[in-house]
Amino acid sequence: MKRRLKVAAVWVSALLLMLVTAATVRGFVVADGLTWTAWEGETGRYRARVISLRSGRGVVGVEIMRISTTFKPTAATTDDQEVSFAWQRVEPSDFHLPRETLWQRAGFGRMTHAQPVAGVWGSSMRSSTVWVPYWALIGLTAVGPVKAIVGRAVRHRRRKRGLCPRCGYDLHASSGQCPECGAPITETVPSAAAPPPRG
Ligand SMILES: [Zn+2]
Repeated sequence: MKRRLKVAAVWVSALLLMLVTAATVRGFVVADGLTWTAWEGETGRYRARVISLRSGRGVVGVEIMRISTTFKPTAATTDDQEVSFAWQRVEPSDFHLPRETLWQRAGFGRMTHAQPVAGVWGSSMRSSTVWVPYWALIGLTAVGPVKAIVGRAVRHRRRKRGLCPRCGYDLHASSGQCPECGAPITETVPSAAAPPPRG
């Protein structure tokens, strides 16, 4: 059961790795913006929560914005609640992220804004943005698949040489289970008299 979970995790990770790599490549051609907006309020006071995901130029960021206004926004067609979802393409060069600190140059960042909306009485906007570089996401999602591939190669080589696939102990003189780590010996160990060619 635990093993199956591990295998599933590696596959999910491999799938994410492919998606993240594709998004990275895409981000240098076209930047994407996904925006989810929810307005709510009664007459006199409207509140919005806007969640935007932006991807482009090697980074992906999430912005959470809260708007509070006394004016009925055009986006809110009903008085009580309005939820909308939009996708837009922007030029990758529209990404103007600060690149002052080492972290920012590496592609990480965090920004918070809180300000009154210019020229609109009784309105305010608060936003916070976090972004991460795609290279970090590629590294993170690659760990599982790379470990699985390397582990498989190591176990295969140990098995071929008559060693315990789990710990590498020489099993030529053992049967039943590995005296070192207790792993059950499931396959016939090549006999010590005729060792397989070392590879
Ligand atoms: Zn062992």
